[in-house]
Amino acid sequence: MKFSKKISQLKPSPTLAISAKAKEMRKSGLDVIGFGAGEPDFDTPLNIKEAAIEAIKKGFTKYTPASGIGELKNAVCEKLKKDNSLVHAPDEVAISCGAKHALFNIFQVLCQKGDEVIIISPYWVSYTEMVRLSGAEPRIVEAKEARGFVVASEEIKKNITKRTKAIIINSPSNPTGAVFGKELLEKIARIAVSKKIFVVSDEIYEKLIYDGEEHISIGSLNKEISKLTLTVNGVSKTYSMTGWRIGYVAGPLDIIKKVGALQSHSTSNPSSISQMAALEALRGSQEALFKMKEEFVARRDYMVKRINSFKNVSCAKPKGAFYLFCNISGTGLNSVTFSTRLLEEARVACVPGIAFGSDRHVRLSFATSMENIKTGLDRVEAWLEKK
Ligand code: PMP
Ligand code: GLU
Repeated sequence: MKFSKKISQLKPSPTLAISAKAKEMRKSGLDVIGFGAGEPDFDTPLNIKEAAIEAIKKGFTKYTPASGIGELKNAVCEKLKKDNSLVHAPDEVAISCGAKHALFNIFQVLCQKGDEVIIISPYWVSYTEMVRLSGAEPRIVEAKEARGFVVASEEIKKNITKRTKAIIINSPSNPTGAVFGKELLEKIARIAVSKKIFVVSDEIYEKLIYDGEEHISIGSLNKEISKLTLTVNGVSKTYSMTGWRIGYVAGPLDIIKKVGALQSHSTSNPSSISQMAALEALRGSQEALFKMKEEFVARRDYMVKRINSFKNVSCAKPKGAFYLFCNISGTGLNSVTFSTRLLEEARVACVPGIAFGSDRHVRLSFATSMENIKTGLDRVEAWLEKK
């Protein structure tokens, strides 16, 4: 089959694929512990589910405006102001089918062949593919492990060319859990403003931030950078709503209007029912989030301590999100061989680091129960000892 040029290189998302494979193995009776999944294992809070049931009962089941209902946009604006010091009017917000969709739309709207987009490595798997699908080229800038996976602003500066259209930042980061402090964000903002480059700020893990670290939205730093920033967020991670598919982008009006136009010809509106659920998520009780965060901290601390006592592997303590990015270079295996053998020989699933731009690491998610974590780590330890 002759596919289009841009699609022929495209492979399924490895993060989704590994979770699917672990689920399939479990279904066929194999006892697999999954550290692959990038989704909270908690149930969606009841108040949110009830809002969706109410929406169905009331018949809120028809098309809505393509870029989302006004009330949800208002709630997003309130949230952005309260939590992030970002001031946006409702028409500067577009609601999409997940943050992934919001990001996809942004690159389609901003980029074309000949453009470059700076992506900080290790990066979330979909950034490079989304950028390529827009016709632009990713330009990878490495955030070194020795610096806690926090990028040096000089490295960004060095990689800016006449073709640079945008830079993606993701703090807290998937897969490293690195958090960008104010000083670094100010430096990145200065670079972006002086070179007139857009900043796509993926803040999906904003609320999953630990040890008193503060999340700062780059768009809130000053007026100039706010005009160049597209802030992306959603309800998937914060409210355990991965399947509901609601995300959003806030940014300059002309760009947001085009996102809405693109959506009106592609997906139309995100599910009307999910929009009502997201409204309750943003405006209702935030209690479930606090409990979830507490549990994530306990799991993280347990995992980091144990992994660092294992043979030939090590990992830093992430400051945010729910992933450990473990250095496996001491094993002498590349990340695909390590993950494949760990799954086949020890029945533990993780994601090879090569999917995030580093073949010397694997990603383990702690979005699974403490019981699973204990069993899974026992298996990893025994497997490493035998190897
Ligand atoms: N950004 C990052 C960094 C992610 O890890 C994810 C995970 N799914 C997303 C965006 C997209 O989230 P969603 O589409 O579920 O809102
Ligand atoms: N973002 C999550 C992850 O990195 C979920 C899977 C995906 O959307 O790629 O595992």
